[in-house]
Amino acid sequence: MSFTLAPLPYAYEALEPHIDATTMQIHHGKHHQAYVDNLNKAIAGTEHEGKSIEELVKHAGTISPAVRTNGGGHWNHTFFWESLAPNAGGNPTGALADAIDTAFGSLETLKEKFNAAGMTRFGSGWAWLIVKDGKLEVSSTPNQDNPLMDVAEVKGTPILGADVWEHAYYLKYQNKRADYLAAFWNTVSWSKVAERFENAK
Ligand code: MN
Repeated sequence: MSFTLAPLPYAYEALEPHIDATTMQIHHGKHHQAYVDNLNKAIAGTEHEGKSIEELVKHAGTISPAVRTNGGGHWNHTFFWESLAPNAGGNPTGALADAIDTAFGSLETLKEKFNAAGMTRFGSGWAWLIVKDGKLEVSSTPNQDNPLMDVAEVKGTPILGADVWEHAYYLKYQNKRADYLAAFWNTVSWSKVAERFENAK
């Protein structure tokens, strides 16, 4: 039983002009595929074969670095694709919108904090919106770590994540990570984030 790469839930060009088709093709078809392939290699013939990706990620600190990196890469990217949608963005509604106002004061402040988390993550990593003890928080992780991992500095249940590796934006935005993060919000599927929020509460 090995892991497989699911097709993107929309076309490669569906997030244009915010995230370009070529970036999506390479990001999904090459980078994510490589995490899946290398994860399968890393667990082949070990006690970890047959475990769920959540189970592997949760114990990232006590299993091999290859499983931590590639298992995290597989989980994070699957989560990322599902966080985005064509004709998305705008504003969250309902209980999620209320929780954002309670935690941050406004959606704009959440965006500022989230973008700052992405901007100050030196090198490669992720910015996250998580549910921690029933409340919303912003955090970030290095490399392919995530807030579900036992090794995470800030642990919680992610409900939104932004990939700030250069491979996520360099073709279109070059070194301008801030421009990519600004455009990212136009692709956020708030309905998906709200569904995760309900499940995490
Ligand atoms: Mn990536």
